[in-house]
Amino acid sequence: MASRLTVPEYVAGVRAADRAVLGRAFTLMESTRPQDRELARQVLEALQPYAGGSIRVGLSGVPGVGKSTFLEAMGCRLIDRGHRVAVLAVDPTSDVSGGSILGDKTRMGELSRREEAFVRPSPTSGRLGGVAGATRECLLVCEAAGFDVVFIETVGVGQSETAVAGMVDSFLVLMLAGAGDDLQGIKRGILEVADVLAIQKADGDNRDRAQAARRELGSALRLLRGHADWSPPVLACSALTGDGLDEVWAAVLSHRDHLQESGQLASKRSEQLLAWMHHLVEQRILDDFRRSTKVAAAELGELVRRGKLWPAAAADALLARFEGGDHGGD
Ligand code: GDP
Repeated sequence: MASRLTVPEYVAGVRAADRAVLGRAFTLMESTRPQDRELARQVLEALQPYAGGSIRVGLSGVPGVGKSTFLEAMGCRLIDRGHRVAVLAVDPTSDVSGGSILGDKTRMGELSRREEAFVRPSPTSGRLGGVAGATRECLLVCEAAGFDVVFIETVGVGQSETAVAGMVDSFLVLMLAGAGDDLQGIKRGILEVADVLAIQKADGDNRDRAQAARRELGSALRLLRGHADWSPPVLACSALTGDGLDEVWAAVLSHRDHLQESGQLASKRSEQLLAWMHHLVEQRILDDFRRSTKVAAAELGELVRRGKLWPAAAADALLARFEGGDHGGD
């Protein structure tokens, strides 16, 4: 059992951006042990006055689009301009396969080595708190540690994008020219959450195709989202050469200015807090349910598997046990 620090020790260490304490704070946030949950809540409450001050950016795109290359290049650029940059990852694949597309610790080596950066791989195994795990909590920890730009990275899978969109101010989507990412291929969910789009790998032989894709997608998006008060700019960039990266960041800032000037930044963050509350309740109930019905679920599940019990009847039986137990409130 890992030893825990006291609340003031976590707070002081996080505020000093002490890497060892940051790591322990993230582990604490991700723990589902009841005693850790209480400690995590106290630490977050104590850190809360220092949080909220970062530019929160979601980043998504299919595997291979160049997310980590982009983050490395963009992160180093932002640090050179005086920012402190944290990268968190939401990796839905680690849920299903136990493996991970995003969680490779060797990614973003150059950025990770920078004093002004913190790159947190996604938790390596199992889900803790659903697809997004404790990412919201970790975001607040990063902010309290003084990181003023926080990227939350995910792959192009609908569920995780929605979760990340619920935590960030601006959502940046990276795409490839002519790789099925034309309008027919774009998942609806991406269009709904994207605030800025960038066609990646606009270099070498690919430059012209990227520019063409950019124009095509740009006009299609204007038609689709013409009614909205923000029409997502479509840009082209190369994480490899650095071309276009400044424009992409300018577009992110301009989206944020738009939110701020229209008063939407505050309301967006308030709505996100409310959604977080509901998420926590749902997650807590699910955790408690799983814990308290583990044995019964295995027994009844076996009957369902063998065709001896209908799934709905098994579900009723499990829920009845749960409600009749410690968690039913009677
Ligand atoms: P991720 O899976 O989205 O994180 O993608 P990676 O950042 O790991 O990049 C996948 C591959 O694309 C790697 O071989 C990169 O070197 C390459 N790559 C990334 N960005 C660019 C770019 O801007 N231009 C070119 N030509 N290749 C790139």
